[in-house]
Amino acid sequence: MFLTITTTGTPERPATDLGYLLHKHPDKAQAFSTSYGTAHVLYPEAETGRCTAALLLEVEAVALVRRGKGKGRGGAPDAALAQYVNDRPYAASSLLAVALSSVFSSAMKGVCNARPELPGQARPLRVEVPALPARGGPDLVRKLFEPLGWTVTAAPVPLDTEFPDWGDSRYVSLVLESDALTLAEALRHLYVLLPVLDDAKHYWVAPDEVDKLLRVGEGWLPAHPEQRLITSRYLSRRWSLTRQATERLELVRLAETDDSEVEEIDNAVEAETETEEKPTPLAVQRREAIVTALRQSGAARVLDLGCGQGQLVQTLLKDPAFTEIVGVDVSMRALTIASRRLKLDRMGERQASRVQLFQGSLAYTDVRLKGYDAAVLSEVIEHLDLPRLPALEYAVFGSARPRTVLVTTPNVEYNVRWESLPAGHVRHGDHRFEWTRAEFRAWAEAVAGRHGYGVGFVAVGPDDPEVGPPTQMAVFTMTSPKEAKAA
Ligand code: SAH
Repeated sequence: MFLTITTTGTPERPATDLGYLLHKHPDKAQAFSTSYGTAHVLYPEAETGRCTAALLLEVEAVALVRRGKGKGRGGAPDAALAQYVNDRPYAASSLLAVALSSVFSSAMKGVCNARPELPGQARPLRVEVPALPARGGPDLVRKLFEPLGWTVTAAPVPLDTEFPDWGDSRYVSLVLESDALTLAEALRHLYVLLPVLDDAKHYWVAPDEVDKLLRVGEGWLPAHPEQRLITSRYLSRRWSLTRQATERLELVRLAETDDSEVEEIDNAVEAETETEEKPTPLAVQRREAIVTALRQSGAARVLDLGCGQGQLVQTLLKDPAFTEIVGVDVSMRALTIASRRLKLDRMGERQASRVQLFQGSLAYTDVRLKGYDAAVLSEVIEHLDLPRLPALEYAVFGSARPRTVLVTTPNVEYNVRWESLPAGHVRHGDHRFEWTRAEFRAWAEAVAGRHGYGVGFVAVGPDDPEVGPPTQMAVFTMTSPKEAKAA
C-alpha cells in the first residue's frame, strides 16, 4: 500500500523543501519499523521544480494477526482464513494512516526546527493514493475532501479490467490537489479520512481516540459538513464515543466562530499587515477605494474573489446599489468565519437573497463566476505562487469575464516605510511575492492586452513621493466584449 506527495517549486521556494517539512532527506531511501510492518520513505523525484515523496508500507499480515487486532469489517468475527487473506497488505487503509502519523509525526504537528517558517506556508500539493478502499465510492470521497479545499479526482477501480461487466471494486484511485493547504493540514486530513473511507479500523478504539480525533481535526473538522459521518466512522461507530466527540466538536465550533474571536483575528491581521498610525487602518482605506471604484463602474452584481473573512462583503451589503454580492474563497475556515460575521443564519430574507458565499479555487475556471458586473481581487494575487498566476488570469479574465475587475496588491517599494518590518521581508508570511509599481503595472497591462480590457491605476493609502502608496490597485474595464485569445 502506498501514497505519494508531490509539490512544485521555484528557485526561491524549491520543491525540495518537502524534505525539510517531512524531516526525511530527499537523497536517501529510509525504512522504519512500525507495529504492522516496514514503512519505506523514498523520493522518486527531487528537483527544485518538482519533488515527490513516496510512503510505502510493507504490511506483515502475520504480525497483524498476532497482535490480535486484524478485526474484520463491522466488527464481525473473522473467519480464520480471512485474517491472513485480506486486502490489508495492498490497499491504502487505516494502517497507512497509522504509518503516516508515526513516520511523519513532526510534519503532522507542523514542526520544523531547521526551517521554522516552512510549516506555516501553504504550497502546491498533489497527493496520490492509487488504491484506496472507499466505502461510499467516489461521491463520498469528494464530499469528504472538497470542503477542505482539495480538488478531487477519484476514479473507481474496476474489479477486473478483463471483465468490465463485473463492475467496480470498492477501491478508488485518488488524486488530491490544492494550492491553499499546508503540508501539516494535508497530513491531518489524510490521517483521519483514510480510515474513515476504509471504515474498517484495525485496532480497538480506546477512549483516548476521541482526544486524538479532536487534536488532529483541529481547524477543519468542527466546520466540516460531513462531521458526523467522519466522527462516527473514525470511532468505529461506538455510539457513546461518537456522541462525546460530536458534543465536544460543537463546543469547539462555537468557540472558533465566536464574535470575539473574529475581532481578535481581525486585529491580529491588522496589526501584522498595517501601519501603527491609528487614523484609518489601511484595510479600511482599501475597502473605501474598492467601493468607490465599484460605484463609478455602475456595477450591481459583484464577486469578491478570495473574500477571506468577509469584511468587504459586509461593507458592500450596506450599500443598496449592490444587489448581489458573492464571496468566494478556497478556505473553508475563512468562509465559516465570514458567514458568522455576516450572521447569515439570522439575516432577513431580503438581505439574505443579496449575498452568497461559496468555496472555490481561483486557479480553476468556474461557471459559477460567469455573468457578473464586477469582480474584486483584494490582496489575493500575492497569495498564489507566480507560476499559478496565469491560471487565475484565465479563470477571471478569460472565463468569468466581468465588465470590471479590481485587483489590489502590496507595493513592495513602500515596505521600507513600515517601521516594524525587517528589511527584505514581505508583509505577511503567506505572501509568495510582492511587486514594485512597475512590476504590477507591467503584469496588469499585459493581462489587459491579452483579454480585451483597458486598465488604470489607483494609489491606496498615503502616496509617498519616493516609494509610492502602500497598496496599489488596478482597475480593469472591458473594451472588447469578445473573448480575446490567450497569448
Ligand atoms: N480579500 C480579503 C482577503 C485577502 S487574504 C481582504 O482583502 O482582506 C487572501 C485570501 O485569498 C485568503 O482568504 C485565501 O484563502 C484566499 N485564496 C488564496 N488562494 C486562493 C485560491 N487559489 N482561490 C481562492 N481563494 C484563494
